[in-house]
Amino acid sequence: MIDNFDPKNIINSKFKNQKINYDRVLQELVNNWKKSNFRPKIMIHSCCAPCSTVVLEYLSSVADVTIYFSNSNIHPKEEYEYRKKVQKDFIDDFNIKTGSNVSFMADEYNPNSFFQITKGLENEKEGGARCHLCYRMRLDRSALKASELNFDYFASALTLSPHKNSEIINEVGFGIEKELEVTSLYYLPSDFKKNNGYLRSIEMCKEYDIYRQCYCGCVFGAKQQGIDFKEVIARVRSQLKEE
Ligand code: SF4
Repeated sequence: MIDNFDPKNIINSKFKNQKINYDRVLQELVNNWKKSNFRPKIMIHSCCAPCSTVVLEYLSSVADVTIYFSNSNIHPKEEYEYRKKVQKDFIDDFNIKTGSNVSFMADEYNPNSFFQITKGLENEKEGGARCHLCYRMRLDRSALKASELNFDYFASALTLSPHKNSEIINEVGFGIEKELEVTSLYYLPSDFKKNNGYLRSIEMCKEYDIYRQCYCGCVFGAKQQGIDFKEVIARVRSQLKEE
């Protein structure tokens, strides 16, 4: 790929010695694609349908987007399966409504991998060290899949959430890109919550009638929030029955 398709070059030329505005980096990059009539293939890690709404609205017209559902952190399995289904259903609806061609892929569910990497960090507060490893686990998987399938970029929809620090997610993404050493695959930085992105995601959830979960995903964060897993399982079962 040519130099102005590498987000790091935009960061180095426009944000030297200053705080990086990742949303602006993404906007500049999209402009560069448009100027060159380049339509990249992007593998976007998504944790749930709500976080993918604005991401698809923003990127699906300028890129060939695949949503990668890789979330072995989610507990219990019933909730994982339900979020996966809601994600896939939303993409189907979005494609019909907008004439887009967004693809969907799901990773295997392997909760032990999450428990192994977060061992000893069970009591960390949400947003702390456990979460950083959790972002890394999911972005790692997405980058590997993107590299295997010759994508141009890998990215994360996690930067939409106001509960998540976009700077850390982007640092994790660039770190993975460096370690992978695949010269044709770039990490695509973002800050999707900017420009009222989060508010727009709430609107889109209403428009598409999307289920919005009440906890981030793992058993540890949910317990800190006082989530009752019996209620979670009962709700998932009744929602599946209604559909
Ligand atoms: S709270 Fe969310 S981001 Fe943090 S470890 Fe749990 S699932 Fe992952």
